Amino acid sequence: MSQQKRVVVIGGGITGLTAAYRLQQASSQQIDVQLMEAGDRLGGKIQTVRKDGFTIERGPDSFLARKESAGRLAQDVGLEDQLTPNGTGQSYILVNGKLHAMPSGSYMGIPTRIRPFLFSGLFSPLGKARAAMDLVKPARKVDGDQSLGLFFRRRLGNQVVENLIEPLLSGIYAGSIDKLSLQATFPHFYELEQKYGSLIKGLRQTTSIPKRKKGEKKPSMFLTLEGGLETLVDAVENQLEEGTVLKQTKVDHIERKGDIYHVMLSNGTVAEADAVILAAPHFAVQRMLTQYEFLEPFKETNATSVANVAMAFDASAVKKDIDGTGFVVSRNSDFRITACTWTHKKWPHSTPDGKVLLRCYVGKPTDQDVVNYSDDEIVELALKDLNRTMNITEKPEFSIVTRWHDAMPQYQVGHKEKLENVEDKMRETLPGVFLAGGSYRGIGLPDCIDQGEAAVEKVLRYMNLT
Ligand SMILES: Cc1cc2nc3c(=O)[nH]c(=O)nc-3n(C[C@H](O)[C@H](O)[C@H](O)COP(=O)(O)OP(=O)(O)OC[C@H]3O[C@@H](n4cnc5c(N)ncnc54)[C@H](O)[C@@H]3O)c2cc1C
Repeated sequence: MSQQKRVVVIGGGITGLTAAYRLQQASSQQIDVQLMEAGDRLGGKIQTVRKDGFTIERGPDSFLARKESAGRLAQDVGLEDQLTPNGTGQSYILVNGKLHAMPSGSYMGIPTRIRPFLFSGLFSPLGKARAAMDLVKPARKVDGDQSLGLFFRRRLGNQVVENLIEPLLSGIYAGSIDKLSLQATFPHFYELEQKYGSLIKGLRQTTSIPKRKKGEKKPSMFLTLEGGLETLVDAVENQLEEGTVLKQTKVDHIERKGDIYHVMLSNGTVAEADAVILAAPHFAVQRMLTQYEFLEPFKETNATSVANVAMAFDASAVKKDIDGTGFVVSRNSDFRITACTWTHKKWPHSTPDGKVLLRCYVGKPTDQDVVNYSDDEIVELALKDLNRTMNITEKPEFSIVTRWHDAMPQYQVGHKEKLENVEDKMRETLPGVFLAGGSYRGIGLPDCIDQGEAAVEKVLRYMNLT
């Protein structure tokens, strides 16, 4: 039997966990896998708190159901029964201090049905007329990348961008729409424009958003796990062979020695590897490999910081409730919070009967200081903003503030090309070393899982094990 190969996976977030698990599944003893995590727990940004009967997510709360890899991973580790779709209801956008219902039939803010859009109070008649120009304005061929803002403003006008698309996208990327890359986030929209000459027409042709009868519920789009997303982390960890996971093991740097890599740990020890999966954020990767100039562009890739506060109340504390699942805030509004999820309605399993769980988010790209405010200050400003549309008369029974520093990688214009250049150089200079995770090809949990799985494929090919 040929000698066992050694693979080190660096970073124990969902990407690294998936990679370690799939490698062990695929390699049947031919590969020795070590998963190295700097912190004392696995899961990275996935973190669940259970308190007084509440299930509270500090990071992600769910994943898109139509991207199948996350549901598949949950099934493979025995959590099929725990998968839960979101409770649906009206969602809102806060513009000029007022909540407006999200026009039904909009897809990422792009209208696919005319009536709800025409009757929406979100836009002026001029704004609506400008958006309708998408139907006649010819497609523009652009060589290379462009910003999401430029693209959507050209197709649908400023109002639809400011009052609808921007708040929705900011909720996902926590970045400036005028800097984020179209190619790295929604290349599909560019393809629709090129093929159909119009985003509205393209989406109407290709996306089936079922028309609902009055009073009929919206279909669920997201899934979570009833015990919290951390149950996925724990279940994957439990599948790993004993001795695979090394917590509190921070990688300091990596050196290539011929065909072997020396993974140098902060505690002074060295692990040898035939291949390495780098499932840590881009800035951590750059620090592990400072001797390679081609990774310098990662220094310029920003990641914004965000914070969120989960607040638990008795239902009686909310005097003016709103029927729905939450709202996002437009940037031209003077609110400090960027969004609020009515978690008890979106995820009823998370909250005991008779209680309310609200989760507010802060940290606009232009308001990064707020992330460092004290817990009390964040609670206070969240309640102040909430009380402009709701009527909450009491302090929360408890609140949990979570700060995520440099956590939201910004895929700025040119991101994809920059990444491809880095990976080309990596193939030449560091064969057998592969990048995966939220900094690179998609930040959603299913995207991260896809990247962990793709990295495994690359390792197996590199080792001629496929
Ligand atoms: C507040 C918030 C809400 C979100 N909501 C959603 C959501 O609802 N749905 C969704 O799909 N996505 C959501 N996301 C995005 C998603 O959570 C992340 O993109 C994803 O979890 C990233 O996983 P990862 O494994 O690539 O990275 P991470 O989770 O960041 O894991 C990387 C790991 O690498 C470790 N590491 C770093 N440096 C080293 C080193 N030198 N040595 C060893 N280990 C190291 C870190 O400690 C960390 O554990 C959200 C993100 C945030 C911050």
